[in-house]
Amino acid sequence: MESGLISVDRWKSGSQAYFLTHMHSDHTRGLSPLWSHAPLFCSRTTASLFPSRFPGFDLSLLRVVSLSSSWQSLSLRSPSSGSPVLLHFLAIDAHHCPGSVMFMFRGDFGCFLYTGDFRWECDDDEEARTTLVSAINDFPVDILYLDNTYCNPIYTFPSRRVAANLIADLILSHPSHDILIAIDSLGKEHLLLHISRLLNIKIWVWPERLRTMHLLGFQDTFTTDTSLTRVRAVPRHSFSIQTLEGLNLMCPTIGIMPSGLPWLKTPFKGDATSLLTSTAAQQRELLLLQGAVHLFHDNMYSVHYSDHSCYEEIGEFIKLVNPKSMKGIVVSSSCYVEPLYYFGRICGVSQPPELLLLRPDTTTSREQFRAVRIKSYSAKDETTVSKKEKWRKGDGHSSLKRNKKRRARICAKIAEVD
Ligand SMILES: [Zn+2]
Repeated sequence: MESGLISVDRWKSGSQAYFLTHMHSDHTRGLSPLWSHAPLFCSRTTASLFPSRFPGFDLSLLRVVSLSSSWQSLSLRSPSSGSPVLLHFLAIDAHHCPGSVMFMFRGDFGCFLYTGDFRWECDDDEEARTTLVSAINDFPVDILYLDNTYCNPIYTFPSRRVAANLIADLILSHPSHDILIAIDSLGKEHLLLHISRLLNIKIWVWPERLRTMHLLGFQDTFTTDTSLTRVRAVPRHSFSIQTLEGLNLMCPTIGIMPSGLPWLKTPFKGDATSLLTSTAAQQRELLLLQGAVHLFHDNMYSVHYSDHSCYEEIGEFIKLVNPKSMKGIVVSSSCYVEPLYYFGRICGVSQPPELLLLRPDTTTSREQFRAVRIKSYSAKDETTVSKKEKWRKGDGHSSLKRNKKRRARICAKIAEVD
């Protein structure tokens, strides 16, 4: 597609239409209350969050895209020739966080699918799957722009439903403890609702998050009154071992980090059957043995609950879409792997891409975090690759030092990609 037509989750000037997949900060970097380049297309839920996220934003720029099987059209103009360009687009539920969508674009330039962040847990009769299958049957995908956050076989984790039950069991196995659950400013709502329903309790959230919950239509489950509940959902940036140690001086407290990151080196093996008949100690043992729950520190657990697709789901999705080519949209994660490395054969890539060992300081004896250099790439890709090459050859020492410092801090603070 010619540049200067559209941008997806990119906010520099120069495009004629902008598309936002979801309201996570790593996808809105560059948006501000003063942004006014062109119309911005997003889902209704995402649009509803604009006044609180960007107070003063010109809401007349927003174009709400419905989630249906009907294509919408947009008339643009070629920046080079000035001739008209007709763009057709479709929004499909990405099942990542409230309001998240993937966008499919087609026109004379071909057909592209941009997933944004997504979790592909769709059953056969799920609406998103039905819409997608119908669309790709009519218009085969030339290029798939893929959420490759966990595009590595080491990332095996259960469905969110199973992981939510494990977290509820973990809470039940600590009947006398206060519970902290780390969340972002958006996402994991259904986990919290599940816990609330199962344990018949309200969940504490901070005031700004309560406003977001109300905007999303969750009126009764959440509270800002700490006296009403022992379960508190706290901002992920405030979630640390030091905080937990301080709280434990006053009251027994555990922290739970829902995350797809492999703090645990063994894949999930459990069947998440109810543990309610066991004693609390037995329950804790069983949960740890199941493999999706990891005791990260004395009072801190990580549980494999993720709003991104795991490796198997990414593979299923690529097989379903069957694109001619694809490209990962996540390039800054420690788990960065170009999807062509593992799934290139699906696209007919006969020569496997070359692996680069990108982050030697995160290598363990059992697994490696790797980046992939693709042998054929565009001029834009070349810039990206040359930066990585530079990093690998030694000019990345400062980055390495920063990474080591970051790893030193990791005991105090845990981070996950949005
Ligand atoms: Zn996200």
